[in-house]
Amino acid sequence: MTEKWGKADLHIHSNHSDGLAKIPEIMEYVQNQTDLDVIAITDHNTIEGALFAKSLEELYDFEVIVGEEISSASGHIIGLYLTEHVRPGLSVIDTIAEINDQGGIAIIPHPFSQRGIFGPLGQSTFLNTANEFAFQALEVCNSIPHLGWANRMAAKVFNGGQGIAATGGSDAHVLRGIGTGFTRFRGTSAQALKKSIEALETTAESAPGGIGVALQYTKSIRKIRKQQAWNWERCHDR
Ligand SMILES: [Zn+2]
Ligand SMILES: [Zn+2]
Repeated sequence: MTEKWGKADLHIHSNHSDGLAKIPEIMEYVQNQTDLDVIAITDHNTIEGALFAKSLEELYDFEVIVGEEISSASGHIIGLYLTEHVRPGLSVIDTIAEINDQGGIAIIPHPFSQRGIFGPLGQSTFLNTANEFAFQALEVCNSIPHLGWANRMAAKVFNGGQGIAATGGSDAHVLRGIGTGFTRFRGTSAQALKKSIEALETTAESAPGGIGVALQYTKSIRKIRKQQAWNWERCHDR
């Protein structure tokens, strides 16, 4: 039994949706500028970039999980360990079922943000529906600047006794965001991470990028909007 606990950033966007970095740039950045053991590429409504990253994996010292941030009819849902694209616009229950049918893990990212499935006022909805939705993990820590309040709400409702694992991710849309939010798990491989999520032993953390990352977002916001317009079919909400 391995005792090493690894680090994974489970929420990264590339230029295949509205991120600014290309997949090879992300791979080089993770290798040279972070100590991540595992990353998940989770573009909006496509696994194209994630599959590309996966194909480059053997050139690097970390592992890649094929993921997708799916725009369900009621907000964003992340699927990890996917082999096929899950289409947007389905109900929450059907989206999670499609992820699980592929053997994937369903995570509710930024649950209480504007585009989260529970929304800013969703605390009681969460408590009433968490069971029915039957997702596997809640993104307790999301490092997009200005989501501090939504994270605190997520941490408050997450008590570890709900049969749901905690995960952390950066939601990076720029290179320097990568690794600023992460999940700690037992082991260092993508498979060990899956087991660790299923065993509900993961923890969510953030390593704030501070003013540098916040500044890069401020400087990049027009480019991100442009990228969203360019990939409109993937990036708009249903
Ligand atoms: Zn985005
Ligand atoms: Zn999102």
